[in-house]
Amino acid sequence: MSELQQKPELLGMFPDELRDYMLSLGEPKYRAAQMFPQLHRGISPQDMTSLPKATRARIAETAQYHLPEVRRKLVSALDGTVKYLFSLSDGNCVESVIMRYKHGISICISSQVGCRMGCKFCASTIGGRVRNLTAGELIGQIIAAQNDLGERISNIVMMGIGEPLDNYDNVLRFLKLVGHEEGLNIGYRHISLSTCGLADGIDRLAEEALPITLSISLHAADDETRSQIMPVNNKYPIERLLDSCRRYFRKTGRRISFEYTLIAGKNDSPQAAVKLAALLNGSLRSRQETMPIHVNLIPVNPVEETGFAKSSHRAVLTFAEVLEKHGVRATVRRTLGADINASCGQLRRAEEQQSE
Ligand code: SAH
Repeated sequence: MSELQQKPELLGMFPDELRDYMLSLGEPKYRAAQMFPQLHRGISPQDMTSLPKATRARIAETAQYHLPEVRRKLVSALDGTVKYLFSLSDGNCVESVIMRYKHGISICISSQVGCRMGCKFCASTIGGRVRNLTAGELIGQIIAAQNDLGERISNIVMMGIGEPLDNYDNVLRFLKLVGHEEGLNIGYRHISLSTCGLADGIDRLAEEALPITLSISLHAADDETRSQIMPVNNKYPIERLLDSCRRYFRKTGRRISFEYTLIAGKNDSPQAAVKLAALLNGSLRSRQETMPIHVNLIPVNPVEETGFAKSSHRAVLTFAEVLEKHGVRATVRRTLGADINASCGQLRRAEEQQSE
C-alpha cells in the first residue's frame, strides 16, 4: 500500500475525528468546525483561503483529500438520467447514476471496485473484486456528481457496482456521515441499501437500527434456482436470509423490498410467481406481525457474457398480476436511461475491455 493510501482521509472523518486531527497539528478546534462543511461541498483544504499557508502545507503532508473525477459522462436524451464513470485517486473506475424523479434527484452509488459475489447475470462481478471503496470515496461520488450537476441530490441508493455488506465498516461509516447536517444532510429515510443477501451483514446492520430501506436481491423463490444464479445462496439459503429480514424489520420497522430480476425461461413463469408469493406470505406474514413487502420486478438487462435473455413484456405483466392476485404488491421497474446503458457495471466493463 502506498504512503498516500495510508494517510488519513479527511472526507471520511466524523467532525470529532477532524477536530482531533486538527488539534494534532496544533490548530485550534474552530478550524475543524470551519473545514467540515467545506470538505463536504467539495472544497479541497488547499483551496481554503481561511487556512494559513503553513497549515495547508501540513495537511497536504499528513492527510489526503480526493474527489472522484469525471472520466465519462453520458446523459440520456429520453429522461435526463446521467451516468458517470468516475476515476478514483489510484486510477480505478466506478460508476454512479443520477435519476430524476418528481420527489427529487436520486443517486445510485457504487460500493466496491468490482464485486466478488459472482451473480451469473451481473456485469459488475465478471472481473472479481479489486478493492473496497473507502467512506470518503462513497461520499465523494455524491459530492462530485452534485457539483457537476449544480443541483442538490436528495436520495441515495446503494445499488451500483459492488456488494455494500461485503464492505461493511466503510459503508456503515458512510451511512452515519452522509446525514450530517453540516455535510450532505441526506437522512436515513432517504437512503436504500441493496444486498445480494449476506445475512450476517443484515443482522449486524439491524443492530444499528438505522431507518434505511433494505432491498434484497432475491431473484428466485427456491434454493435450487437461486443457487444456480447467485452463489451467495449456498452460504445463506433463502430461509436463513428471510430470518434476517424478519429481524431487520423488527428492529427498524422499515418495509423491506425485494428485487426480482426476470430471466427468460429461468425464473419468469407464472408458477414461479405463485411460489414467490407463497414464500413471502408464508415466511414473512404468517405470524402475528404483518410485514409490509414490496416486490420490484426488473426485466434482466442482457449482458453479453452472461447469455441470459430478457423476459417478454407479456411474461413480466403476468408475473406481476399473479403476485398481486396472491396479495403481494409488485411494481415493474421503469427502465431509466435505456439509451445510455445505465445498468451498473457495464460502462466500467466497456472501459476495461478497451484498455485490455
Ligand atoms: N450487490 C448489491 C447491489 C448491486 S446490484 C445487490 O446484489 O443487491 C443492484 C441490483 O441489480 C441487484 O438487484 C442485482 O441483482 C441487479 N442486477 C445485476 N445485474 C443485472 C442485470 N444484468 N439485469 C438486471 N438486474 C441486474
